[in-house]
Amino acid sequence: MDTRHEDMPKTYDFKTTEQRLYNWWLENGWFKPEIAGPDAEPYVISIPPPNVTGALHQGHALFVGLEDLMIRHARMTGRAALWVPGTDHAGIATQLQVERLLVEEGTSRKQVGREEFLRRTWEWKEKYGGRITEQLRRLGASCDWDRERFTLDEGLSRAVREAFVRWYEQGLIYRGTYLINWSPNLQTAVSDLEVERVEQQATLYYFTYPLMGSDDTLPVATTRPETILGDTAVAVHPEDERYQQYVGRTALVPMLNREIPVIADEYVDRAFGTGALKITPGHDLNDYEIGQRHGLEIVNILNKDATLNESAGPYAGLDRFTAREKLWADMAAAGLTIKTEPYTHTVPVAQRGGELIEPMISTQWFADVREPARMALEAVRDGRIRIVPERFVKVWEHWLTNIQPWCISRQLWWGHRIPAWHCQDCGHISVARQDPTACEACGSPRIEQDPDVLDTWFSSGLWPFSTLGWPDETPDLQRYYPTTMMETGYDILFFWVARMVMMGLSFTGKEPFITVYLHGLVRDEHGRKMSKSYGNVIDPIEVMDEYGTDALRFTLLTGSSPGNDMNLSIERIAANRNFANKIWNAARFLVGNLEGETPTGPPPQEKLSLPDRWILSRLNRLIETVNRLFDGYLYGEAGRQIYEFLWGEYADWYIEISKVALYGEDAAAKSRTRHILTHVLDQCLRMLHPFIPFVTEEIWQHIPHEGEALIVARWPEVDESRFDPRAEEEMALLVDLIRGIRNVRAEYKVEPSRPIPVQIDAGDAAEMLAGERDLFVRLANADPAALVIERRLAAAPEQAATISASGVTAYLPLAGMIDIDAERRRLEKEVEGLVGQIERSEQLLGNDGFTQNAPAEVVQRERDKLEELRASRAVLQERLGTLS
Ligand SMILES: [Zn+2]
Repeated sequence: MDTRHEDMPKTYDFKTTEQRLYNWWLENGWFKPEIAGPDAEPYVISIPPPNVTGALHQGHALFVGLEDLMIRHARMTGRAALWVPGTDHAGIATQLQVERLLVEEGTSRKQVGREEFLRRTWEWKEKYGGRITEQLRRLGASCDWDRERFTLDEGLSRAVREAFVRWYEQGLIYRGTYLINWSPNLQTAVSDLEVERVEQQATLYYFTYPLMGSDDTLPVATTRPETILGDTAVAVHPEDERYQQYVGRTALVPMLNREIPVIADEYVDRAFGTGALKITPGHDLNDYEIGQRHGLEIVNILNKDATLNESAGPYAGLDRFTAREKLWADMAAAGLTIKTEPYTHTVPVAQRGGELIEPMISTQWFADVREPARMALEAVRDGRIRIVPERFVKVWEHWLTNIQPWCISRQLWWGHRIPAWHCQDCGHISVARQDPTACEACGSPRIEQDPDVLDTWFSSGLWPFSTLGWPDETPDLQRYYPTTMMETGYDILFFWVARMVMMGLSFTGKEPFITVYLHGLVRDEHGRKMSKSYGNVIDPIEVMDEYGTDALRFTLLTGSSPGNDMNLSIERIAANRNFANKIWNAARFLVGNLEGETPTGPPPQEKLSLPDRWILSRLNRLIETVNRLFDGYLYGEAGRQIYEFLWGEYADWYIEISKVALYGEDAAAKSRTRHILTHVLDQCLRMLHPFIPFVTEEIWQHIPHEGEALIVARWPEVDESRFDPRAEEEMALLVDLIRGIRNVRAEYKVEPSRPIPVQIDAGDAAEMLAGERDLFVRLANADPAALVIERRLAAAPEQAATISASGVTAYLPLAGMIDIDAERRRLEKEVEGLVGQIERSEQLLGNDGFTQNAPAEVVQRERDKLEELRASRAVLQERLGTLS
């Protein structure tokens, strides 16, 4: 798709460009790792699979931007870059969507039954499941879509089954009763990680526990009176003198008169409430543990919908909150209550839905992950896996050293059904890779598959290798596993990353990736969480419609740093759209001045002007810096530096400077300038491509280039022979002087077209400045006839504005235009600015860490700079003296 250069439209139209380029890349197979050849070193990312129910939000936009940046950079450095895409079946989220649809149709999940429900859910998935991946494409994601996977597809389901059976055979998966977090509304167990603790205004209820065989009573306090019906003990502290006498006696559960023991346990906090604690092992985790220590009975008083069951006696059938009121009223009537008081405490609520979670005893499937967790700890400790930023290693250590059994069963229908069959005759459980037809113990054909499905993190924990074909030793698994980079949000470090590492090490014997890069959350411009209720959501689709994908990507990528949350504002996005336009305009200037030439490759080394040597030196320093920042995962800073260079040094300075040659008479100089203009832009487009793929590719197609497409062009390499510190110094001086003159012109409101006289006291820079006389005249709009450049001016002109930079002083004798007071104020402001810079420099040089650790030439440069700043200050202060 070679475009003729003169065809470059006046403005960049992202709307007609993005989709066209994306399809063109895709059709050419450039998203596939095979284009790098069989010997290329792989670079692999497995996408964090978005939920099939997902609608694109800024979190997606950020991770797609980051991963696409990593993949495009890897591709351009010659790696076999593979980005494996896919989606997650998202158990609860998807099931709720379809349940809602059924309710709208006047029916329900239970009414239609499991089989029909699953058929409807698959239908829903076929219809809407592709939405989120379409939106990822819109962001420019260069995934290999031929390798797209779904956690419930056939291959991945087989991987899940294999993993389950292996852990079961190793004794790591078992059934057990355990106090789980029960979500009465969702009717399923939820993991600890899906439970949030929120503060709640509650009531503390004081009541008395009658003791059998006497009138003695034990005062007790609770926030959940209805659980009294499930008490199986009252506990006091063994050293509490108030209650010691009661230990070993029998108490009677209020209203039920069930007999329970009074026990002593050091867990009891003597200062809380009355100092005596009711023990409900069936509905409280701490009580459960005390119950285990004392061999207490466990009484479950709740049905799965959080109404009370038959163990609650006369309260059976009541909702938990109604039961609380009724029981308390009855106890009051019976004279068993003491008082109530307001009380603030934290309660567990479901992350999804926000309802109150009930701790409940239940039979579930568990995975004992202590050994996998130990392996995961070791992999990070010995550096086989690196976490960026490093501060998350501490969190990783803490969680994995305190790992709890993982409750892997969920009472849902949408998901990987647990491959276990219960025998109706002997009770044996058969777990098998192939669906059995008979009990493996007694041979009975009366077997029923376990109704539960697996926690959705069980299948996503296998993601990096199941997507490559595991458990089969496929060519993809051999070539692309372990993967290279796991890029995801720090908020799912445990949910997901830890599980992938545990399962990867356990099932493949290898760490599933080498580096974990954690990004933060995207917040609004004031740092608030984006939420519908605040009305501060910035919808990525709307932003892309209005400003283009590149503007959104560049804003997210340059605004973020590893592990930190970022604030997103529309103003920044708009500014970055202007950046795309700025590059477009720079390219149009170049294309409009090529006059048929098509320079490619590195520009010549000979006969280069000072600005030529300067821009090439600065370009190569930029490439060096960007490479260093990429190596340290500091992509945002790299993007900002390319932006500064391209906008400032290239577009604002070099292009301006190039007009001297381009509009001049020297044909060879014109050619050289075109070549350098083309080369510098080409190299910047390459470095910017991973950030803003669309506008860079489109521009690249318009400027002279070798090769078919920017997406598969080579990443720039540093050419050290272009480093030219002297040219950089000299240009810095020129730029400072010209900036100073422009400021004075603006301040004195000199008409832009009017040339002004300039006299320069140039010292050692006299020769250089004389050599750049034409350039100086043009950029400062100096009057050539009145321009004086001397090593030492005989006398400084009176009534002149003064500029000082790096030992050079320029006087602008603006006769009749100078207002002495205004000039004094201007100089005072300049001096103030210099004082600030001098202080900063002195501080830096006073820091031993800097002077001892920085390279000698950097320290020397800083010393020189400080000297020059002090000299400038002296010149301006002296000048101020003459004005007063
Ligand atoms: Zn059997």
